Amino acid sequence: MKASQFFISTQKEAPADADIISQKLMLRAGMIKKLAAGIYNYMPMGLRSIRKVEAIIREEMNAAGATELLMPVIQPAELWQESGRWDKYGPELMRIKDRHDRDFIVQPTSEEVITDIARQELRSYRQLPQNWYHIQTKFRDERRPRFGVMRGREFTMKDAYSFDRNTEGALKTYDAMFAAYLRIFGRLGLQFRAVAADTGSIGGDRSHEFQVIADAGEDLLVYNPETDYAANIELAEALPLSAERAAPAEELTLTLTPGTGRCSELADYLKLPLSRTIKSLIFATEAEGKLTGIWLLMLRGDHELNEIKAGKLPGFGDGFRMATEAEIIDHFGCKPGFLGPIKTVKPVHVIADRTVANMSDFVVGANQEDYHYTGVNWGRDLPEPELVADLRNIVAGDPAPDGKGVVAIQRGIEVGHVFYLGTKYSKALDATFLDEDGKPKHFEMGCYGIGVTRLLGAAIEQNHDAKGIVWPTAMAPFEVVVCPIGADRSEAVREAAFRLHDELAAAGIDVIIDDRGERPGVMFADWELIGVPYRVTLGDRGLKEGMVEFQHRRDEAATKVALAGIAATVI
Ligand code: ATP
Ligand code: MG
Ligand code: MG
Ligand code: MG
Repeated sequence: MKASQFFISTQKEAPADADIISQKLMLRAGMIKKLAAGIYNYMPMGLRSIRKVEAIIREEMNAAGATELLMPVIQPAELWQESGRWDKYGPELMRIKDRHDRDFIVQPTSEEVITDIARQELRSYRQLPQNWYHIQTKFRDERRPRFGVMRGREFTMKDAYSFDRNTEGALKTYDAMFAAYLRIFGRLGLQFRAVAADTGSIGGDRSHEFQVIADAGEDLLVYNPETDYAANIELAEALPLSAERAAPAEELTLTLTPGTGRCSELADYLKLPLSRTIKSLIFATEAEGKLTGIWLLMLRGDHELNEIKAGKLPGFGDGFRMATEAEIIDHFGCKPGFLGPIKTVKPVHVIADRTVANMSDFVVGANQEDYHYTGVNWGRDLPEPELVADLRNIVAGDPAPDGKGVVAIQRGIEVGHVFYLGTKYSKALDATFLDEDGKPKHFEMGCYGIGVTRLLGAAIEQNHDAKGIVWPTAMAPFEVVVCPIGADRSEAVREAAFRLHDELAAAGIDVIIDDRGERPGVMFADWELIGVPYRVTLGDRGLKEGMVEFQHRRDEAATKVALAGIAATVI
């Protein structure tokens, strides 16, 4: 590939609304371009990486016995009404009408459609098992689209759906998919962890998420470093508390009921006036003059608390007061305002409406004084605050549920999710096959998703430096860039560079030659930003001795290598 014929568009600065490093770098490297909130153009450079991820997924899915098909993005509402998800899915489901006023949805997943295909096509046990997948555009009207491709509204997912005769078969398929996922994320060159997971709106019994380890991740993973116990914190609720935390945590039971009035109910309880300024607050409780706990109060909806005064709160010790800044920093690892990530997760007690399904519904707000002083209207003018770190009230050092040692906590980005569904959808849509005994049976199903476009962001969160992206080779838009220096002046350089390019291309290497005529500084900065793993630089002086410079993106400096041997080094 010649750079002069490819579209390269790099930028020095990221747009002001880009909020994390992967998003900034993808925008700056010209991989994506924003069209609307959570909706991106995949530019030529970005699409190359997407295609590489898709190719690896296809290879491993096919090798694991799955078959590719392609289901429509637009699906009729009737199927969703049949499964019950038309009512249950909520506002994330994009509903549209055609010119005849008929209801449709833009698919967030395809359980209904695939089950509909299965009930028509799969009649006999002899046709089972089947595992069908597609790589297709999804739409979820996320409440807070952010982090670029990591939480988009339109994104690409690989979703697979399996049909088995019985539970035993379905669990075998589940295990085969689990193993395929280990290979996929391994081949992509990512550091990841499989964790037991909640089944969310998809439903079902058994489920694991594949989480790319990164501080920017929205999920918290609870694991035992000594054993193979690992769970998403959403599922790890039943963990016992460590001895030192058990006492104060048991004292706390303040249940807020959902719906209107819950905040005023609380305000009554706390004897506080209401306003619309604060979403949450942090206060400390004391007994006999000693700090007994830091409490995080989270509210959402229209009613919010305005003012909190020191006073006595039943069940909280002698008294409560706003936590001091030092106490907050100590507990959360960041200041009130929470404009940075919460780095340390220390014991904090959460009072929240637990009936809200999604953790991202909760935000950590700030001490009101900060915003009255600054005149900022919390919730409107401020950047997105950090999600609550430990809604489940679990911290590193708590006893592990497997009884062996204590848990550790790390952040992860969910890039894959496998579910054993059982007969949830086959029963809802009455999808059956005739078993050996001649009787109709409901299919035993599983479903298996991978966030194709999210994977790009996740990989960059894990692999970048001050200069830009450092792609794992498997995901890089190009594997090698050939950079001739002074090619306009030296025919020898031109000729050697193109010959090397052709040789590498012929050997199946994904190579690009930078023939744009840019100065070396500009050229190098571009490729470092884009994150191409290998660079070969050719100049007149080196060539006279038959030498070129070779540098991996992670290397501090280039190494001199004989031109004759470069193909062997790269290949
Ligand atoms: P999350 O918890 O991050 O909202 P999810 O659990 O809702 O994800 P699934 O229904 O399990 O997502 O979908 C399968 C995969 O699709 C996820 O593991 C993730 O990689 C990807 N995915 C889900 N939502 C998005 C999104 N808004 N943007 C990009 N990828 C997404
Ligand atoms: Mg979701
Ligand atoms: Mg999830
Ligand atoms: Mg999931």
